[in-house]
Amino acid sequence: MINITLPDGSVKTFNEGVTPMDVARDISEGLARNVISAKFNDQIVETVTPLNQDGSLTLYTWRDDLGKKAFWHSSSHVVAQAIEELYPGVKLTIGPAIENGFYYDIDFGEHSISEKDFPMIEKRAIEIARGKHPYKMREVSKEDALNYYKKQDNEYKVELISNLEDGTITFCDHDSFTDLCRGGHIPNTGYIKALKLLSVAGAYWRGDEKNPQLTRVYGISFPKQKELTEYLELLEEAKKRDHRKLGRELELFTFSQKVGQGLPLWLPKGAALRERLEQFLKKAQKKAGYEMVISPHIGQKELYVTSGHYAKYGEDSFQPIHTPKEDEEFLLKPMNCPHHCEIYNAKPFSYRELPKRYAEFGTVYRYEQSGELHGLTRVRGFTQDDAHIFCTQEQLDQEFKNVIDLSLYVLGSLGFDNFTAQVSVRDLDKPEKYIGSVDNWEKAEQAIINAAEEKGLDFKVEAGEAAFYGPKLDFMVKDALGRNWQLGTIQVDYNLPERFELTYKGSDNELHRPVMIHRAPFGSMERFIALLLEHTGGNFPLWLTPDQAIILPVSEKHEKYAEKVSKSLENNEIRALIDARNETVGKKIREAEMNKIPFMLIVGESEEEKGTISVRRHGGEDLGSISIDEFTDLVETEINSTLKTF
Ligand SMILES: [Zn+2]
Ligand SMILES: [Zn+2]
Repeated sequence: MINITLPDGSVKTFNEGVTPMDVARDISEGLARNVISAKFNDQIVETVTPLNQDGSLTLYTWRDDLGKKAFWHSSSHVVAQAIEELYPGVKLTIGPAIENGFYYDIDFGEHSISEKDFPMIEKRAIEIARGKHPYKMREVSKEDALNYYKKQDNEYKVELISNLEDGTITFCDHDSFTDLCRGGHIPNTGYIKALKLLSVAGAYWRGDEKNPQLTRVYGISFPKQKELTEYLELLEEAKKRDHRKLGRELELFTFSQKVGQGLPLWLPKGAALRERLEQFLKKAQKKAGYEMVISPHIGQKELYVTSGHYAKYGEDSFQPIHTPKEDEEFLLKPMNCPHHCEIYNAKPFSYRELPKRYAEFGTVYRYEQSGELHGLTRVRGFTQDDAHIFCTQEQLDQEFKNVIDLSLYVLGSLGFDNFTAQVSVRDLDKPEKYIGSVDNWEKAEQAIINAAEEKGLDFKVEAGEAAFYGPKLDFMVKDALGRNWQLGTIQVDYNLPERFELTYKGSDNELHRPVMIHRAPFGSMERFIALLLEHTGGNFPLWLTPDQAIILPVSEKHEKYAEKVSKSLENNEIRALIDARNETVGKKIREAEMNKIPFMLIVGESEEEKGTISVRRHGGEDLGSISIDEFTDLVETEINSTLKTF
């Protein structure tokens, strides 16, 4: 008999050889119907794997990430089978599950495929799935495995197998198909009710451009047709909200091959928007006791050797800049922290003067391979809303709470109410990994957890996820399409104060090391604006949006009045523009809608007579003819409903 411990801590006794599916059935028939994958003693197993020792078992359904992973990986086998049948002689390589779906990298040889071939492959894959073929794992000797793929002339699988230890090699069979595979499958192909191929792309074997190029086929599958339909709708919506597309349409930013890839250029509307975001944060930071500092875009190599960033970024960084006469060596700034440490070092501090909170919208540069660049989310130059707090160990608690308050204020004002947090702490089994005293670590971790609890955050604690130099808290935001984005980090640091020999004079008149907190509520301006664009679909909060209103004169006759309206709005600090083109009001409204302008103010004969404006809200709601004062009140009320005072 063996003892199986379930996630709720309960222990059940079974005969040796019991399978995860048997355990599920023992719990309930309903669970057994839904179980698609399992983990036993930290290893993913098949639902039919016999369990021969005591251990803890987790059962996964479609609702679990690991359940989806098994589902999608299993689907990649089915797609590979369909492709192998339809394109004889292709060579399969690897087919993993990814965050949304799966891919298979295939050497198509003389065949080639494009999106128009997808329906045929999908049709065959679904036919195979309907056969309800069980996935069966079997061990093979290294020799047999190598021979199997040598016979098929598949040098890729041969290479993979060559790197494996004999005795650890397994094949997975279903229907007439066999693949080299470590395992982690759903019970049978029949669970796959809907399947769609999404795209094809080139991919180098093992990600190395010196290797042959393969074709990567992306797909996704679901246990219900309805779920596929919903997913495809979401994809469509995500395409419409792609920040690169919206950024172009709303004239916020651009890229120029001449300037260089990964280096965004901010257009006037985008620059103004960014400026407003900066002002918003600067105002709150001022109230929270931050002081602005400014540091250069480059620093001596030695600075980053001292900070340790050279070891981390040096290799993969841009080449150093040499001065022509003095032979000095400079690097583009990858992080603002070293500069801020030296700002702290500019004068001695006593404990009474701490905390010091230095903030800077600091632009940093990091080399990214051209293939990795993506719109504003992966760039080579970006501006962090950075700040570093230097405080005593005793002040850490309060400072952490203050930073959480500021972060929550930022998220709330920008319409993000769906977020969670992760607190990353040490791995207690590996104390040698971390610098700083155990006592300080304990206090810092407790300070973060206390602060998160007190502020009512929905958070989880992850052991072993802390950096070697200190614990941290990360905010994860869910956007309107349900996608997760990692946002601002609050990081405790015992390392840099040590490396830069930062000190303060304590009440005992001795010198002590301050603790440092790194924090950036937006993360970077670039990435944050990308997220904001995709979250709002370009319909920014009213306080932030580039143009809050557009005045549409019905004809040339009313242009003068339109200008008068524009002046009054300007006096009331409402950002409005006039569309005086010789076009119909209908056309102007349609364009204003496309440009996501929140209010359209139509002015004609009757408005001019009464001194009013006819207000139409973005999306179509008619607010009727009102006075400019009434409109100003409306705008103010709406802004105050999202933008609270800090
Ligand atoms: Zn597999
Ligand atoms: Zn920093």
